[in-house]
Amino acid sequence: MKLSKLNFSMAQITRRDFFKEIGRECLIRGILPCWLFALLKSTHVYGAKRAEILQEARYYKKLPHGRVRCHLCFRGCEILPGKRGFCRNRENINGVLYSIVYAKPAAHQIDPIEKEPSFHMIPGTHILCTATASCNFRCKFCHNWHLSQRSMEEIPFSIIKPEEIVKKALEHRCETVSFTYSEPTVFYEYMFDIVRIAKTKGLKTLYHTNGSISSEPLLDLLKYMDAVTVDLKAFTESFYTDISSSELEPVLQTLKTIKSYGRHLEIVNLVIPTLNDDPVDIKRMCLWIKTNLGKGVPLHFNRFFPNYKLTNLPPTPIETLERAHRIAKEEGLEYVYIGNVPGHEMNSTFCPKCKKKIIHRTHFSVSAKEVKNGKCRFCGYPIEGIWA
Ligand code: SF4
Repeated sequence: MKLSKLNFSMAQITRRDFFKEIGRECLIRGILPCWLFALLKSTHVYGAKRAEILQEARYYKKLPHGRVRCHLCFRGCEILPGKRGFCRNRENINGVLYSIVYAKPAAHQIDPIEKEPSFHMIPGTHILCTATASCNFRCKFCHNWHLSQRSMEEIPFSIIKPEEIVKKALEHRCETVSFTYSEPTVFYEYMFDIVRIAKTKGLKTLYHTNGSISSEPLLDLLKYMDAVTVDLKAFTESFYTDISSSELEPVLQTLKTIKSYGRHLEIVNLVIPTLNDDPVDIKRMCLWIKTNLGKGVPLHFNRFFPNYKLTNLPPTPIETLERAHRIAKEEGLEYVYIGNVPGHEMNSTFCPKCKKKIIHRTHFSVSAKEVKNGKCRFCGYPIEGIWA
């Protein structure tokens, strides 16, 4: 699950309220307010409506009468002149498709890598996260809806070029640049240019996605991406249709492509009471993961809290998460976690062979690592992930 973002509405907020809101969110989330402030001090645009930096989109075709078809994600939007795609971020201007959010992040901050979550990638290090407005899903439970369910004109953004993002990551000693909070696919061109530069500077790269990207752009991106965290929101088409206005099948295809390309993959399943917590579906999902991706792919069962349009449901009972954990282990998955429950024993990593605790973790904080050269320090069992 992606954690909630800043609670503001561009229509009403003053600069003072904006920073007050950031401070409040920092306290709630336990992130590093002074670092965040240092980053935001460099903001070039505050409250601007639309800066005229446009980047021609990739992965689209021109059609008769000035129309275009975007192939970046499963939706394949046909877009008339002057209109935008479903994601609100790609606009047809005189028969040419543009990414209108290029170099216009609405969020950029430093987080622990565990917050992504990415538990098997250089644990205890920091990531510089970047996101623009909007998304190509409409999840009723979205914890980042202030960002993801808004178009770029509705929220503040900065103007930050790709090379400046990389420079900030290096300056703030982040080992990784990450793309998260909203759906990074809908700012693909910006992300692509950042990771291309980041790799030349020795940084690692991480993409947290809903998995709905088409295969050609995904394969191009994976050349520069070290790891991907995918939200597998449920294992039924009905959930994807009714709760997220999207589709399951493209997500499954994305998972297989990432794995077969050989990139590090982790999966997050936000368990929502009554909507996707059926043990039969969880068992089918775990079996599918083991069969198609392998038993070593880390799986995170995260706790739901009421938010956005799903405020009528209670938080996920801990027992439901523990039941899901038990099912996954019985199906043979090696690394299964319980998330959004700080202090739960299953925040930590255990060696599948000798069963010893090899990464001591409390929520996002790592206190001990017993993985040496990618192997359990106690018994030598190879642990899937990126450790160096
Ligand atoms: S990326 Fe946006 S415009 Fe392109 S197909 Fe997906 S929703 Fe439509």
